Amino acid sequence: MNKRDYYEVLGVSKDASEAEIKSAFRKLAKKYHPDVSKEPDAAEKFKEAQEAYSVLSDATKRKQYDQFGHAAFSGGAGGAGGSYGGFSGFDFGDINLDDIFDMFGGGFSSGFGSFGGRRSSNRKQKGPDRVIQIDLDFEEAVFGCKKTINLTLNEKCSDCNGEGGHGSKTCDKCHGSGTITGQQQTLFGSFMTRTTCDKCGGSGTIFEDTCKTCRGTGRIKKNKDIEVTIPAGVDTGNQLRISGKGEAGVNGGPNGDIYLEFYVRKHPIFERDGNDIYLDMPITITDAVLGGKIDVPTLYGTVKVSVPAGSLSGDKLRIKGKGISDVNSGRKGDMFIILNVITPKKLSRDQKKLFESLAKTNLDDSKEFDRIKKYL
Ligand SMILES: [Zn+2]
Ligand SMILES: [Zn+2]
Repeated sequence: MNKRDYYEVLGVSKDASEAEIKSAFRKLAKKYHPDVSKEPDAAEKFKEAQEAYSVLSDATKRKQYDQFGHAAFSGGAGGAGGSYGGFSGFDFGDINLDDIFDMFGGGFSSGFGSFGGRRSSNRKQKGPDRVIQIDLDFEEAVFGCKKTINLTLNEKCSDCNGEGGHGSKTCDKCHGSGTITGQQQTLFGSFMTRTTCDKCGGSGTIFEDTCKTCRGTGRIKKNKDIEVTIPAGVDTGNQLRISGKGEAGVNGGPNGDIYLEFYVRKHPIFERDGNDIYLDMPITITDAVLGGKIDVPTLYGTVKVSVPAGSLSGDKLRIKGKGISDVNSGRKGDMFIILNVITPKKLSRDQKKLFESLAKTNLDDSKEFDRIKKYL
């Protein structure tokens, strides 16, 4: 998802004051609150504004954002997916959603019931995603493999089934409503205020006993091994999603996902370009001149390859289908052999004699030499 600039989202300038940012957010929150707004994409707009506000209202985060843009808040383990979900836990600072509506004159009183703390604190949330980097040998990436990954994850507490406690009862502070109603005197008159009950977090119920295993969080850290099958053909930077194996969700929400991100180690002789394989292949000067059959290593074993007479360094020979299977389609790439004619530096006496007699022949009898000869 391409994120909009946070300043643009709030409609303020880069040097907007804290007060301007706050006021811009209030206006947007009022306009797009999903409980009130009739606009079709209100929920998205509201989330976008929330996210922008959470960053720009915090001096430290704002500084980071100014410097690094969205990159300041994405990436790294846990930040995967780039979804807004990652922001759900952010701090609203001194703005309470109910307060926003009170501030605008209590005209929304009829709508109050629908967005108390109940909704926000009890909402099902997907667990955060995790990115795990996996280092693979060249062959493991080419042919696929099985790996065991050890992870420490937040899992649903089995003692309380993720609820955080046992035996729910009605909250005695808010009498089950999840909100606390009060009155506020302002210049414009007195307004009803509604705040989320701090005792039950807006759910309206509390537990008789807090779960001791998870200390009421509903989740516990667990270390576990996950078996994964890595398909043939993955390359550095490819990601593989393992759906639903990540951290436990909140309030019965689904588990997050695990993303495996691959880093493939170099091979001593093969180089990879997409699904094609390149090999720098030394050949003798006689094979280059006379042509010949040479043994060439491939990913699939040794093959005999004919080198044509008169080959030059840099000439490319292709062996079809000896590349890497495409990770999606399974179609195989090709292998390219780049010839490298080796001029011998150490010669035996016999070899030297042969070259000397060869030198007496007219080896410079070709047009490449003629081009220069007329300037001699
Ligand atoms: Zn528990
Ligand atoms: Zn309560």
